[in-house]
Amino acid sequence: MSNIIFFGPPGAGKGTQAKIISEYLNVQHLSTGDILRKKLLEKDNLAIELKKIMASGNLVSDDILNSIVSSRLSKESGKGFILDGYPRTLHQSEFLNNFLSKTSSSINYIFNIQINFETLKNRILKRSSEESREDDNVDVIETRYNEYLNSTQKVTNSYKDIYRPNFYEIDGSLEIEEITQNIKEILKKS
Ligand code: AMP
Repeated sequence: MSNIIFFGPPGAGKGTQAKIISEYLNVQHLSTGDILRKKLLEKDNLAIELKKIMASGNLVSDDILNSIVSSRLSKESGKGFILDGYPRTLHQSEFLNNFLSKTSSSINYIFNIQINFETLKNRILKRSSEESREDDNVDVIETRYNEYLNSTQKVTNSYKDIYRPNFYEIDGSLEIEEITQNIKEILKKS
């Protein structure tokens, strides 16, 4: 069974690789960003609130994210999953760790996609013209990157300690196909 987490700053290519690998392994791809963006279409009060937070590049509350993720993971229990964009805070990672221990499961692979700020800024700007995401503009990129540095990197470091043998650094500056190949090789070897 494969339970996988993709880490990395916004624009590193987590979503692209998570999608490819979920099809390759036939396990569900759980992108919290995609789930939240779908929620925005409902246009209720929660959606209006979420839209403001996401458009500014800040993080949505842990309670909302934990409830989204636990309900999805409970449904797919035992079939494997790929988490993309979660956990992003220490509180979320504690929640996930509790969930995993309650369901006697673990994380089999963690892929940390590394990329420098200049490269990711250019990528996000390119994606903004292709996907017209409101949070893909220069002002917001910096906020999102700072959220990553201030919150998510702490989570990544803690997982690096806990799951050291299953933690893999991935060079995110390569072409999409090369990155996929590197990930597949790790999956085949271990
Ligand atoms: P992403 O598509 O993963 O870059 O996420 C887009 C936006 O959704 C982020 O900038 C946050 O506002 C929100 N978001 C996604 N996942 C999380 C999370 N795990 N915790 C808090 N906010 C999140």
